[in-house]
Amino acid sequence: MKPALFDFAVAQSLTDAQSALRGEQNKLVSGNQSLGPMLNLRLTRPAGLIDVSLLPELRVVEEHEDNIRFGAAITHAEVEDGAVPDPTGHWMRDAAANIAYRAVRNRGTIGGSLAHADPAADWVIVMTGLCATALVRGAETNAPLRTIPMEEFITGPYSTALGPEDILTAVEVPKPGVGARWAYWKYTRQVGEFAKASAAILVDPSKSRTRIAIGALGRQPALLLNPDAVLDGTQSPIEALSEAIPDQPATALHLHAVALTRAIEQIKVAKEFSA
Ligand SMILES: Cc1cc2nc3c(=O)[nH]c(=O)nc-3n(C[C@H](O)[C@H](O)[C@H](O)COP(=O)(O)OP(=O)(O)OC[C@H]3O[C@@H](n4cnc5c(N)ncnc54)[C@H](O)[C@@H]3O)c2cc1C
Repeated sequence: MKPALFDFAVAQSLTDAQSALRGEQNKLVSGNQSLGPMLNLRLTRPAGLIDVSLLPELRVVEEHEDNIRFGAAITHAEVEDGAVPDPTGHWMRDAAANIAYRAVRNRGTIGGSLAHADPAADWVIVMTGLCATALVRGAETNAPLRTIPMEEFITGPYSTALGPEDILTAVEVPKPGVGARWAYWKYTRQVGEFAKASAAILVDPSKSRTRIAIGALGRQPALLLNPDAVLDGTQSPIEALSEAIPDQPATALHLHAVALTRAIEQIKVAKEFSA
């Protein structure tokens, strides 16, 4: 199928993009790797597309003492290639390199992926696992940026805390402390496909932070309630999953238990982060 007719404009500034969203049936487009297929299938029929992929405000990368701020329009390929700093040493690069295939990574953006909030998407689970924060510009001119922890930003399948006139401007990724370790394992039937199950683990002793996020659940990522208990073996992966996701029977969580088990194996041998 082909998309229904739509207007197309390249935003010249963030304010420009904000006014184009105001009261209109317009949608932002960044890499068009998720929106494009939806337009083709006519699952969405915006009156116009506002291209924000080249906006300097969304392309900026800033290093702060505790985190790195990535503009929403930074592409997966730029992370993969090391064209932008990786606060985690290499974990973000590795995750980016395993998203789909290169043509998708050349165009697809971190912000587009998070705003689309596909439950199986890599940045959705990786950013949740890394305790990242979304920065959102509201509709009103000069409104202060809202900072939303990733576990609150992704509110469900294809659903986020973004209002119809909001723009995701950036994502902030905390710098892990010395000695931190990370693991990310995803199960895909074929290379380049979306995950069927995924698990991300962050162990950051200097910040007293242990987090295990489970993805590809058909909803927002789930955070395990007692991550240390799973890591020290006092709770089995399936017990931990059933505790965190009580609305799903254990039989439906089998692949996720496998993903979690593999991620636990990975973290046991993972290299420690050195700043
Ligand atoms: C064949 C194929 C395989 C794929 N496989 C994977 C995979 O294995 N793993 C994975 O994670 N992803 C995968 N993807 C998705 C890919 O990563 C997309 O790049 C990503 O999901 C969307 O990013 P985008 O920049 O293309 O967003 P777009 O398609 O341009 O936009 C997606 C949505 O986000 C909104 N949006 C975009 N930017 C903003 C913003 N700044 N503020 C607010 N809203 C915004 C748009 O309005 C739209 O609703 C795949 C895509 C394809 C086509």
